[in-house]
Amino acid sequence: MRYLSTRGQAPERNFSGVLLAGLAEDGGLFVPAAWPHFSAADLRSMRCLPYAEIAARVMAPFIGNCVPFDALRAMCREAYAGFAHPAVTPLVQLDRDFWVLELFHGPTLAFKDLALQLVGRLFDHGLAQRDERITVLGATSGDTGSAAIEACRDRARVDIAILHPLGRTSEVQRRQMTSVTSPNVLNLAVEGNFDDCQDLVKAAFADAPFRRQVRLAAVNSINWARIAAQTAYYIAAALALGAPEREVAFAVPTGNFGNVLAAWAARRMGLPVARLTVASNRNDILARFLAANDMSMRPVEASLSPSMDIAVSSNFERLLFELLGRDAPQTAAVMADFRATGHMAVPDPVWHHARELFQGFTLDDPGTLAEIRGTYEGAGYLADPHTATAIAAARASRPPHVPTIVAATAHPAKFPDAIEQAVGFRPPLPPPLADLYDRPEHFSVVPADLPTIEARLRAFATRNTA
Ligand SMILES: *Cc1c(COP(=O)(O)O)cnc(C)c1O
Repeated sequence: MRYLSTRGQAPERNFSGVLLAGLAEDGGLFVPAAWPHFSAADLRSMRCLPYAEIAARVMAPFIGNCVPFDALRAMCREAYAGFAHPAVTPLVQLDRDFWVLELFHGPTLAFKDLALQLVGRLFDHGLAQRDERITVLGATSGDTGSAAIEACRDRARVDIAILHPLGRTSEVQRRQMTSVTSPNVLNLAVEGNFDDCQDLVKAAFADAPFRRQVRLAAVNSINWARIAAQTAYYIAAALALGAPEREVAFAVPTGNFGNVLAAWAARRMGLPVARLTVASNRNDILARFLAANDMSMRPVEASLSPSMDIAVSSNFERLLFELLGRDAPQTAAVMADFRATGHMAVPDPVWHHARELFQGFTLDDPGTLAEIRGTYEGAGYLADPHTATAIAAARASRPPHVPTIVAATAHPAKFPDAIEQAVGFRPPLPPPLADLYDRPEHFSVVPADLPTIEARLRAFATRNTA
């Protein structure tokens, strides 16, 4: 499989190239040159298989000959063996024709583990083929750091350093990062805020000699491998509820548009999907676009669902490219204009097409608390604030007689304050993390100073060769 940039100015790559590059050189996002297709018979043949087997079969056409199928299957088995539920992504029925797809049984209790546990292993495989190492560097204010650390810990050819603002992440989030004991993980607590951390990461990437010396890399949400890995759970869930003979609908809590794009990709590849709903909190740029062809940037506002607090949805560019008939120059022009003006409107027929594909929905914080309470009282199910936005979206308009599946993106115990506000108690952490508060922490406090941080990273990246 070859990959193109949505902006048309970067050389084509194969899967390994796309995996290790992340963003394309022209600022675009990589997309497959042609979409794989699963016939009804292909889909039927995956029914009842273990999740890891479905994941390997769904990923295989995206990976092409970069990874032999047996090695891919072994990586999938290993990646998902660490999940706390034997079904990996279990479905829980809330009502007639209404299900929750629990994507939070991985090590950090959020859906990003589904992709990242596999991506960490794919990194190792690709780097071994090239006999290279990388140092993953990232900044986090919360969840992305722990998911990236769990993905990279103990990988043979990857070191990972994550900057977090000292004293400014929640205790659960900090402990999920700092309690990891693997020697290839470095946690730096920066004396500053999240913006300082992000600026330091950007500055380190901009320092070309340093970047080359420690082979800096990122594990960001626009990496194609993450989207590809996520398509597997949509297919697995639909198969369990009767696909390909029966259509299903999905509602997805959305921030950067990566998760719901994977659902769209599953449909694009042949899964019968009747409806895709994009649920947002008050940071509702996507809902505004779908309602009125108005994609305009606004400042980010903090909400009860922090992983959906975004100003722009970076993966939307991949959909835009498809909506524009895969016209890369036009995609590049629209994106340049969007960057310059903070505003995007697409030609009317394109917008109508987007509205046929997706339905938008917005829920504010009081609505989110009411939905958590209502779902708990009505169905006995405790949803986290992100999941609650999509449950409300699905309740607002479910296609009749179609199984509707809500993507549950985080475990409620990750957001104990919001849950307590909604239902009056704090949910306990599930067994694998029950002793999180007793585990020793490992991190160094550093000033918000680039030379100091680069020196720490250099020592860390070369610790075995010095
Ligand atoms: C990252 C995240 C989201 C948003 O997913 P996108 O792929 O960015 O749209 C939603 N919920 C939770 C809990 C997340 O961690």
